[in-house]
Amino acid sequence: MSASRVLVLNSGSSSVKYQLLDMRDSSRLAMGLVERIGEQSSRIRHTHVGNDDTREWNGPIADHDAALKAVSEELAKDGLGLDSPELAAIGHRVVHGGKTFTQPTVIDETVLAEIERLIPVAPLHNPANLTGIRTAQALRPDLPQVAVFDTAFHTTMPESAARYAIDVRTADEHRVRRYGFHGTSHAYVSRATAKLLGKAPEDVNVIVLHLGNGASASAVRGGRCVDTSMGLTPLEGLVMGTRSGDMDPAVIFHLARVGGMSIDEIDTLLNKKSGLVGLCGDNDMREIRRRVDEGDEEAKLAFDIYIHRLKKYIGAYYAVLGTVDAIAFTAGVGENAAAVREAAVAGLETLGLAVDGTLNAVRGDEPRLISPADARVKVAVVPTDEELEIATQTYALVGRY
Ligand code: ADP
Repeated sequence: MSASRVLVLNSGSSSVKYQLLDMRDSSRLAMGLVERIGEQSSRIRHTHVGNDDTREWNGPIADHDAALKAVSEELAKDGLGLDSPELAAIGHRVVHGGKTFTQPTVIDETVLAEIERLIPVAPLHNPANLTGIRTAQALRPDLPQVAVFDTAFHTTMPESAARYAIDVRTADEHRVRRYGFHGTSHAYVSRATAKLLGKAPEDVNVIVLHLGNGASASAVRGGRCVDTSMGLTPLEGLVMGTRSGDMDPAVIFHLARVGGMSIDEIDTLLNKKSGLVGLCGDNDMREIRRRVDEGDEEAKLAFDIYIHRLKKYIGAYYAVLGTVDAIAFTAGVGENAAAVREAAVAGLETLGLAVDGTLNAVRGDEPRLISPADARVKVAVVPTDEELEIATQTYALVGRY
């Protein structure tokens, strides 16, 4: 029997998320999370899916090397160790692939060097991703390792969407352009939406709204991304849990010159203390809705600003695409918050958009339509699955080797 397992690793600066999948049926064998790496209070939470067994271990985990060894030990306890001949490859989520990486890529020294070269445009993410890759390589040097880039799906954007209207030479010198993120999710969800409509991805135009703690929209024409709301960094676009999204860039000059804030302080303000949390103190949509229902004015305004921005992007991407077959809601908020979906398309009947109240209230894990049967543009809820997409892309690539 040939190797059919893929380990998916998502290495952050202080955490590693992982899933082990069997690609014969795309099933999960195990999954888990190592948190607070480098602290005394690190934690590993591991689930062996087959036995429905979750184990937790608390204690110091010094670095990514120790984290991955701990993951390897947990997997070995379940008979799923990384030394198994059934492991076909390791798929790594890599946040920034710049203009270079348009596809998932088997990692070699040249690829590592390029990911490293992109650190200036992804200073928080790429170093952590690199550490994860190097650690995994040390553990299984013989195994193919594949990088799946968050930006890759967006590399099909035309220059008219990818460029900022700033001096071309300055932009090129510093690689300033719109790259977009959440690409793995946008790719997966746009394809799953086409399937839900019973059509090939090439035959549909979809607006994907990935609404999690981070949030982004994309316009997908015939399976190819033509615009997305995140830009050079994930700060641009929609209102998010803690990020401002779109803003006059002069706000930054103003805060520096008049407010006396440093660049780092403004960076923290816009990335960590803005968005929903900045507007009302909460970034969890469940809590915000609860407060709105109790008549909380601050939460209501935060919700309204969130919806206003979302609606602007629906309108903009409708215009970019010309014709739209479906709008797909995904990620934590998109999949669960019926109130957000209803409010986002309210009043857009002339665009052929509507939500059926009964269908919208149904909860579930499967892709589903929530628009009335005769709707011109379908509205869908399509749960995202970035790990499955990374595993699928990894396996497809390694299978060809
Ligand atoms: P991340 O961007 O961290 O991957 P997720 O896609 O998991 O985020 O989304 C997390 C967010 O989803 C939470 O912050 C919360 O706002 C929202 N969310 C999760 N469950 C619900 C729910 N049942 N109703 C409304 N919002 C929810």
